[in-house]
Amino acid sequence: MSIAVEEGQLGGRKLRRVVYEAHQLQKRVSELATEISGAYGPEDRLLLIGILKGSFVFLADLVRRMTIPLQIDFVVASSYGPGQSSTGDVQLLYDPPAPLNGRAVLVVEDIVDSGTTLLNLVPKLRARGPSSLEICALLHKRKIPLDPRWVGFDAPNEFLVGYGLDLAEDFRHLPYIASLQLTDELTDVS
Ligand code: 5GP
Ligand code: MG
Repeated sequence: MSIAVEEGQLGGRKLRRVVYEAHQLQKRVSELATEISGAYGPEDRLLLIGILKGSFVFLADLVRRMTIPLQIDFVVASSYGPGQSSTGDVQLLYDPPAPLNGRAVLVVEDIVDSGTTLLNLVPKLRARGPSSLEICALLHKRKIPLDPRWVGFDAPNEFLVGYGLDLAEDFRHLPYIASLQLTDELTDVS
């Protein structure tokens, strides 16, 4: 199995392992696009709402494989909590201005971890009266019983980067998803 890792993208950081290679991501995203396209029709006036920033690569690949009419918007959700774990309330820093009333909404998320983001966001969007509201998450760590209609992969309980996922804003541009060597993370702070 050959893994195309472009070392220059990593800025000297070392990967622990590649969890999903680019071709695996592309194959799964194509399957999801086919399934989602089959679940809606033009009358649904489907609106995909990507949760920024993490979902931007996944959303961009997904929509280009979809075969039904759709529109795209984003929310910027910010959760306030210590360190890398998101706890507590989620604020919307950007909120889609389009009316959701009577149309099908599909929230596109990069990864479900504690579920805090989605559990806060979904009621806010549902209150605007969409005809349906479903979730498509590329990754799910299965820590909580939240069950999105579409999930790309059940993810391992590691901190993942790439394909939109960041560590302090780095690594979003990797075409694969990987975990990093944590020892480097602790020692290389320059
Ligand atoms: P939750 O609110 O479900 O705890 O977390 C959702 C958000 O936390 C994701 O949209 C993502 O931005 C971030 N997150 C959760 N797990 C990971 C991870 O393993 N790697 C990265 N880079 N971000 C994560
Ligand atoms: Mg996110």
